[in-house]
Amino acid sequence: MSSNEKERRELILRTHFENPELSHRDIGKMLGIVQSTVSRVLKRYFKNLTIDRKVKNGKNGCSVSEKDHKRVVKPFRRDPTSSVRDVANKLNLSSSFVQRTKQREGLRTYKVPNRDERQNMVGKTRARKLYTEMLTKPHCLVMDNETYVKADFRQLPGLLFFSAEDKFSVPEEIRKQKLSKFAKKYMVWQAICSCGKRSVPFVMTGTVNGQVYLKECLQKRLPPLLKQHEGPTIFWPDLASCHYSKDVLEWYEANGVTFLPKEMNSPNALELRPIEKYWAIMKQALRKNPKVVKSEADFKRKWISVKKKLQLDVVQNLMDGVKRKVRAYGRGLEV
Ligand SMILES: [Zn+2]
Repeated sequence: MSSNEKERRELILRTHFENPELSHRDIGKMLGIVQSTVSRVLKRYFKNLTIDRKVKNGKNGCSVSEKDHKRVVKPFRRDPTSSVRDVANKLNLSSSFVQRTKQREGLRTYKVPNRDERQNMVGKTRARKLYTEMLTKPHCLVMDNETYVKADFRQLPGLLFFSAEDKFSVPEEIRKQKLSKFAKKYMVWQAICSCGKRSVPFVMTGTVNGQVYLKECLQKRLPPLLKQHEGPTIFWPDLASCHYSKDVLEWYEANGVTFLPKEMNSPNALELRPIEKYWAIMKQALRKNPKVVKSEADFKRKWISVKKKLQLDVVQNLMDGVKRKVRAYGRGLEV
């Protein structure tokens, strides 16, 4: 190997470790190296690294056979939306082992993007404002949102994440969100907060409008959650226009609810709003019970039973990095 080649390999590696969020394609573009070379270099590196470690540190639990690695990687190749936890359960391995192996084999986790450049610019400005004007004071952050859940739990997808060596190597229907308009579904509204509490959910069929949101979600279900707090709370609603209607703003005012003004609420910033991950966890749990729910009441019962099983610290962990992420996003960093 010539020294030039070696330098190029080191450059690729360094760029990858300094910017773990970049895809092989992005690294290639940045360095002016074709994507296939970047992929080959990184893949070989992760593979060799494993073998090296096996020889040197066998006793530290790293003496894992090639066969185990293949077993872990296979389910992700077959279904890029598999979660680490599901694969670990299926193979009877620990989640941390699956996660580590996945990384060593060059499989990374990508988020299905949902925001354009302009929204990104607006988002950064709003996040900066939010961090400096609200989040530096002590508070418990309360977030709400709605989601739609199919009545047929077998159809629930793990929509938000997929695993691949390169995100363009998986079919488009996995990379992008599918729209299936005709399956019967329920709308669920819920609020969650940094200390792990959750509001009573509101369930209906159809779409929530401003009046329903105000009456069912804000007036009936938000105050009981806020009252469980002794210290100050900040309510961070989803950016939908019905969450900022005149009536709603008046209600916040009249009830002394400290809320995020629209000009601090970044559009489509899923990474900043872990409630999206909360939905994903709830749906994953529902999917384990392959049933078709028959009625709103039936659905509500299932949702609440899954919610009860979910530990307080799962929600706390989800909400943990919000402040740091808002700060990073406002500075133009990847979150
Ligand atoms: Zn709280």
